[in-house]
Amino acid sequence: MDLVKEIEKLKKDKKAIILAHYYVRPELQDVADYVGDSLGLSQKAAETDAEIIVFVGVNFMAETAKILSPGKKVLLPDLEAGCSLADSIPAADFSEFIRQHPDHIVITYVNTTAEIKSMSDICCTSSNAKQIVESLPKDQKIIFAPDKNLGNYINSVTDRDMVLWDGQCHVHHEFSIEGILALKSKHPGAKVIAHPECQKPILLVADHIGSTSELLTYSHNDACKEFIVVTESGILHKMKQKSPDKSFYPAPSDDPNCVCADCNFMKLNTLEKLYQCLKNESPEISIDPEMGKKALIPIRRMLEISEKLGI
Ligand code: SF4
Repeated sequence: MDLVKEIEKLKKDKKAIILAHYYVRPELQDVADYVGDSLGLSQKAAETDAEIIVFVGVNFMAETAKILSPGKKVLLPDLEAGCSLADSIPAADFSEFIRQHPDHIVITYVNTTAEIKSMSDICCTSSNAKQIVESLPKDQKIIFAPDKNLGNYINSVTDRDMVLWDGQCHVHHEFSIEGILALKSKHPGAKVIAHPECQKPILLVADHIGSTSELLTYSHNDACKEFIVVTESGILHKMKQKSPDKSFYPAPSDDPNCVCADCNFMKLNTLEKLYQCLKNESPEISIDPEMGKKALIPIRRMLEISEKLGI
């Protein structure tokens, strides 16, 4: 059976839209209607008039789509596709953290559960975190959660002193500085481009720091022909498609058992699971309606600020 053809047919018959993250397998990116990062995917999910949204990504992304469009059917090919960053912030602990920091505005990454979003004032992604923080008065006290590396980076570029939650993404946190320097000595002409969820020593050696979509744009527009890419390896597919004349090297991680920079949650998605998911309209994402209403407020604020700033 030609899975791609079957998926295309089901998608048409069911008036579904397939949204995929840059970190999923290449063949899934190629069958999607839209491929993007967390911000782009949230914006697409908010504006689509499709009756069914199939989210080829991880749980919190599909939840965000459901929060934005509670009346639509939102499907995720594998419910086990979670996120180590979202897992690093248990709701009860975060509630206590907020209680300990009165007068603070709570900014959380979209990489969180609906429950964490429901406790937040504004959401952000790595594409708009700096601008969202800068949209607040300089003396405003802020809690920034859950990614500590990104929080530290935003503190440094905005000259703020936000209170940070101690969470991290296992992929970005585990890149090896020694491995990156060794790769650089092998390819001295290559520029190091890194995601701000990486640890500080890596950001210090990076030629350019940016969100996944910013790194994609930068690698295409920059005159350099070689790049060491310090983010999830799935983005290399789009980088090569956009700039076939350039070379891209995935950065190594600290884990000796893994020479790749793969998010094991994103990689749970497969063509077979996508096909079954569309065919059976399952697994479906559901959110408690009251929780969904509360979680919608910070997502809407993020989208409004982003739209105003043209991000
Ligand atoms: S790459 Fe990191 S932040 Fe993104 S889904 Fe995987 S674990 Fe979560």
